[in-house]
Amino acid sequence: MKILVINAGSSSIKYQLFDMDKESVLTGGLIERIGLESGRVTHNVFQDGTKQKMTRELTIRDHRQGLQLLADLLVDPKLGVITDPSEIDAVGHRVVHGGERFHKTIVITPEVIDAIRDLIPLAPLHNPANLKGIQVAMEIFSSAVQVAVFDTAFHSNMPDWAYRYAIPNALYRQHGIRVYGFHGTSHLYVSKVAARHLHKPLAATNLITAHLGNGASITAVRGGKSVDTSMGFSPLPGLMMGTRSGDIDPAVVFHLHDKLGMSVPEIDHILNKESGLLGVGGSNDLRDVQQRQERGDADAELALNMYTYRIKKYIGAYMAALGRVDALVFTAGVGENSPYVRWHACQGLENLGIKLDEDRNDKRINDVTEIQADGSPIKVMVIPTNEELEIATQTNAVIMETR
Ligand code: ADP
Repeated sequence: MKILVINAGSSSIKYQLFDMDKESVLTGGLIERIGLESGRVTHNVFQDGTKQKMTRELTIRDHRQGLQLLADLLVDPKLGVITDPSEIDAVGHRVVHGGERFHKTIVITPEVIDAIRDLIPLAPLHNPANLKGIQVAMEIFSSAVQVAVFDTAFHSNMPDWAYRYAIPNALYRQHGIRVYGFHGTSHLYVSKVAARHLHKPLAATNLITAHLGNGASITAVRGGKSVDTSMGFSPLPGLMMGTRSGDIDPAVVFHLHDKLGMSVPEIDHILNKESGLLGVGGSNDLRDVQQRQERGDADAELALNMYTYRIKKYIGAYMAALGRVDALVFTAGVGENSPYVRWHACQGLENLGIKLDEDRNDKRINDVTEIQADGSPIKVMVIPTNEELEIATQTNAVIMETR
């Protein structure tokens, strides 16, 4: 079974082709700057046991041309991945917002497409691009089954006391204003890997999973199900992120509008694109902020203190939500690579059962690794996330069910 995973953004398409029978990645890459003059394709070529990146610069008009380029690369005889697009059995699409309609991965039908379109008001930046990817893939890989994997699905069974906002019921019932949560594919993937590593059934494992990338969210997972998560109606709330503010008093928005005369789009831009590590610490990249801090920059120091304190606060909150926690899991760019963030986020949690081992935490980590001190009641793990593999696995499972 060959499964192509597509993550279509507004100006980019990330892809990976899996051979599920051989449990291997055949190729992958990124088509970016779609719609601009200077488009680029970066395609992985595996030859003689080595991985090389092939880069081509060209104008890529739209998603259709982008996916056609991908189809041509896949069947290019010199690259030797496949000989015909019909060899691809299924295409698994990342779809950001499934609203209250989609609780699990599903084969795409015309009704599913309509529903994803209906959800555009809830995800105006993401669902249109995801939809475009689906529509073009249906034409270019026409013999493949198309499957949608939703970022929100993992969180869609949270208890109502966790997903409701304390605002008038009508705003929820008529307009769907509630917590949806995001990064679900990553939180689920690392939860499965953690349970396997702990030799426990997922259904009996309680975890706190911290996905710390450019966007960041933290989730309380009870028995393999999300019971609370730090993002909300949108990906803006919760942790401090690369450029997003995370939690903020909504009255600040009124103040910026009423007293400082900012327009709603301006405030949207500030909170989503100019805040977080960038707004306080001068860069959206944690490595840069750390370098600034090492040079004595007080703003960078403050940004790191805020960033790690916010994570710590959520860990404490989710310990309370879960009651019993088997492991705390760090994943994504920062979670996998920053001993500094892991260490400072866990400082002071010793009395709650979380104690890190400094040497284990400081080592370079490429695979599932436990970093707690001996005797720490709660395990602390670093698990590299793999959202593409999770999308491929879920796509495979859906196809098997329908056969
Ligand atoms: P995305 O959300 O875009 O998928 P990633 O999960 O790739 O993001 O995470 C990107 C972030 O990871 C970068 O902004 C950077 O701050 C952080 N990061 C990557 N490598 C390191 C590292 N070695 N040390 C600290 N932070 C890192």
